[in-house]
Amino acid sequence: MKKYLNIKERYSQFKAWREQPHQVAPMSEAEHDCATCGTHFTGNYCPRCGQASRIGRFSFKTGVLNFIDVWGLGNRNMFLTLRDLILRPGYMIRDYLKGMQMAYFPPFKMFFLLAALSLLVTHGLNIKGQNLAGDSESESMAQEVVVEDPSEKDSGVEDVVDIVNTTDEIAKRTKVIYHKAIDSIERFQKRFPNIYNLLLLMVESVFLYLFFRHSPNIPDLRYSEFFVSQVYIVNMVAIYTIVFNFFCLTKLASISFILAIIPLKQLSGFSWGRTVLKSVVALVLMLLSILVFIVLSAFVTVLLVKWLG
Ligand SMILES: [Zn+2]
Repeated sequence: MKKYLNIKERYSQFKAWREQPHQVAPMSEAEHDCATCGTHFTGNYCPRCGQASRIGRFSFKTGVLNFIDVWGLGNRNMFLTLRDLILRPGYMIRDYLKGMQMAYFPPFKMFFLLAALSLLVTHGLNIKGQNLAGDSESESMAQEVVVEDPSEKDSGVEDVVDIVNTTDEIAKRTKVIYHKAIDSIERFQKRFPNIYNLLLLMVESVFLYLFFRHSPNIPDLRYSEFFVSQVYIVNMVAIYTIVFNFFCLTKLASISFILAIIPLKQLSGFSWGRTVLKSVVALVLMLLSILVFIVLSAFVTVLLVKWLG
């Protein structure tokens, strides 16, 4: 019983720690002579050139930091951002949106670095040395062959220009164009995964924004702010996906997007139930809208070809 209370106490301590705003290290009282410009100053950074006062003689540690800086990682806040994205993602995003930008690694830079790391891990940098993306690639190549063969035979330019008379035929052609559109989207996703993911994220955050723009914690959230928060949330999910893929737990990796509920809940302040409900409704609405959009575009294309041709 005592142990249980202890864990409960620790958890409430952890909760309090998560929710309090980011704390910046206290101002140093020590005086320094800047090693770069020679300015005499008190504090953590030189007011003239911005060099940190802690930079002294070259050490092994500064050497390592300089080395990882080649990839834009030699910043201490990369590790702080990783820690906070795992332990208190929603509260970290709240702090960032409030203007604490010096404390955290920039969201888009992080997005592209994680995307590069994710590619490495899925293409062999994992404990089994396996190409986890290999199956889907050969599958898509097989699909391309299957898709392109019939398209050459029965939906060439002449065929589409053919006069379409019955509604049956219009439906059939709409279906053909619909499948072609889906295939092009899939091919685009394979070739430009980063751009595809960012575009999808923009669409997705429009729908989520409809349900999260007025929340108990942030009553007047802007779309741009919400989009930035979504980039951080995707980064958080990417961290889990990369770790799962590294240990070849591909099933866990493919469902790790569910964890996005945690930062959404922490950021908005809605209850768990409302957060899940709002997210699911927003995503269903998005999928339906995309489907309707593609079917309608295909239908309009067929009608235009019929009228003009
Ligand atoms: Zn200086």
